[in-house]
Amino acid sequence: MVSQSLPHKKTASLPANSLAAVVGNTPLLELKRITAHLPSEVQIFAKAEWFNPGGSVKARPAWGIIQTALKAAALAGGKHLLDSTSGNMGIAYASLGASLGIPVSLAIPSNASPERLTILRAMGVELTLSDPLEGSDGAILVAQHMATERPEKYFYADQYNNQENWRAHYRTTGPEIWRQTAGELTHFVAGLGTTGTVTGTGRYLLEQNPDIEIIAFEPDSPFHGLEGLKHISSSIQPGIFDPTLADRTLGISTETAHHLTRRLAREEGLFVGVSSGAALEAAMQVAGQLTAGVVVTVFPDAGYKYLSEKFWELES
Ligand code: PMP
Repeated sequence: MVSQSLPHKKTASLPANSLAAVVGNTPLLELKRITAHLPSEVQIFAKAEWFNPGGSVKARPAWGIIQTALKAAALAGGKHLLDSTSGNMGIAYASLGASLGIPVSLAIPSNASPERLTILRAMGVELTLSDPLEGSDGAILVAQHMATERPEKYFYADQYNNQENWRAHYRTTGPEIWRQTAGELTHFVAGLGTTGTVTGTGRYLLEQNPDIEIIAFEPDSPFHGLEGLKHISSSIQPGIFDPTLADRTLGISTETAHHLTRRLAREEGLFVGVSSGAALEAAMQVAGQLTAGVVVTVFPDAGYKYLSEKFWELES
């Protein structure tokens, strides 16, 4: 039998074999075949974030937010952790929450993919569905309303404004990339959702080397199929967003992201989500202008939550 050092301890401490202990420290994969056309001195690497508990990058901010809330006793008395989410953050809260005995309530657009809704229901989350036409902003407004109406029931985690979101990337994603590239990266490319990834990782990397270029990307229009990403200029601005960090912001189309997501599966053996295809397109645009450089991006999740989408079966 596997020995459990502290079987009854229900605190935020980190026994080595707990779910929270395996958040982060994800592999950094070099993309070799899909980049064959680039000069040999130009490399593209991706952080394989689906290795996290709950299967996405969002385990990092979810654990940061939960840990801080536990320390402040903000979840005491059986309070529910409440937030709005398009899916991945909710699944991360649900995984870590279940493992720590914390109930989770989420506001989520009713047109979130059936895979996401099924996973969240399977994990025992209390779901409040918001207007599909209002997207992730509609879910934010519903969560705000619920938090105001029932402050005794909910701790509102508010991932768009919670400083622990970007700090989790500052503490973990940034240092991991710095270490895994032995400080040789020249460009960091990441998508904008809550903006936590770009803000936290970008801040850390620039402190190590101010010459690193930070490139953000977003959907190229307000109506898009890039789950987890936001068209920032037409959305509620996340409070943690720092518009001065990125040197440039690229606009990526849903069709291009689908195309590259298929290519990642077929040419690199990486069955990843649509925002990873978008990340690769952005990284390729950056790498295409270089004669030498180390470009690092983030692949936020795997493809399984997108199985009901139609784009997988296209030829190219
Ligand atoms: N891609 C996916 C699939 C996501 O779920 C998220 C998180 N919303 C992002 C990208 C963007 O990450 P961030 O919230 O840190 O900006």
